[in-house]
Amino acid sequence: MAQSRRRRLVFFLVGALVLATLLYWQRGAIALRLVENGVDRITANADPIAALPDGLHVGICGAGSPMTDAHRAGPCTAVIAGSRMFVFDVGSGAAARLLRMELNPAQIEAVFLTHYHSDHIDGLGELLMQRWVGAAATQPPRVFGPTGLDSVVNGFREAYRLDQSYRTQHHGEQLVPPSGFGADPREFDIESPSGRRILIDEDSLQIVAFAVDHGPVAPAVGYRIRYKDRTVVISGDTRRSKDVEREAKNADLLLHEALSMKLVQILENGFDRHGRSRYAQIMRDIRNYHSSPEDAASVAEAASVKRLVLHHIVPPLPLEALKPEFVGNAPTIFSGPIDVARDGDWYSLPAGGDSIIVSRRP
Ligand SMILES: [Zn+2]
Ligand SMILES: [Zn+2]
Repeated sequence: MAQSRRRRLVFFLVGALVLATLLYWQRGAIALRLVENGVDRITANADPIAALPDGLHVGICGAGSPMTDAHRAGPCTAVIAGSRMFVFDVGSGAAARLLRMELNPAQIEAVFLTHYHSDHIDGLGELLMQRWVGAAATQPPRVFGPTGLDSVVNGFREAYRLDQSYRTQHHGEQLVPPSGFGADPREFDIESPSGRRILIDEDSLQIVAFAVDHGPVAPAVGYRIRYKDRTVVISGDTRRSKDVEREAKNADLLLHEALSMKLVQILENGFDRHGRSRYAQIMRDIRNYHSSPEDAASVAEAASVKRLVLHHIVPPLPLEALKPEFVGNAPTIFSGPIDVARDGDWYSLPAGGDSIIVSRRP
């Protein structure tokens, strides 16, 4: 009996070894097949938005900050309202992340910037190039932002001008029309504090910018997006702010920036221990113009939002186990669900209902 069991085990092990050898030997062919399947799926779908139900959809194309985080590109939020796609802030790596989420940059109608700290704009050139080449557009996309926008957009346009000439020469004006290159800046001024400005106001869609408190960085704004009966608010970079609270009143989803004072303090202590006083000072400085997860939770609670998504995560969270440490006491302050965003997180808010469906795109 024991002998036949041993024989079966030997057969199994030899079989597994033969299979593993075959797979290893064929690994190139298998990888190519997987690539073909993936390419098929992506290239067949020029209009990924069409498959979505009517409503607001929010995709995290960058949940991070200036500090490198393997799970989080620089700040970026994709918002799909009905059949229209908008992007709010474009940090480093955000354009690549949008593509990985199988969204089509050619479909971006407009970009909205909250302020001009580099982490919120340094993916803009890449995104504009992706859209231009992908869309064969004859008009560039509108880029909205508070005072200072024109110089930012003109700077990117200048930096990419040579590349524009190469691509038009190489692919021809029909494929990449020069008139569609760059961006159409829509700079607006806004009073600080408590100023607000309606930027888009149509039948079913309203997008409002509102001043937030990120001093000495000014102007700095957040955005409120309403589509039919659903509302999403993006805080932008801010200390705990009454303005965010006012705009988020009864919103379905509040995306709020968050910095863990406790974890940043650990970084500061480390720099101090090793005599790196400049970095230690920066860790001290950044704590005074951001919000803690507890601040974000108290804003969400006061505004009675349905769900709170923490993004612009500082510092990076290399371990899942750090999440409870990061959120700290926030769950005792806000009675609704709280998420610590990661790139690829996806929220669907169907019109005419009050559900929030949470999922992930690759
Ligand atoms: Zn900032
Ligand atoms: Zn920032």
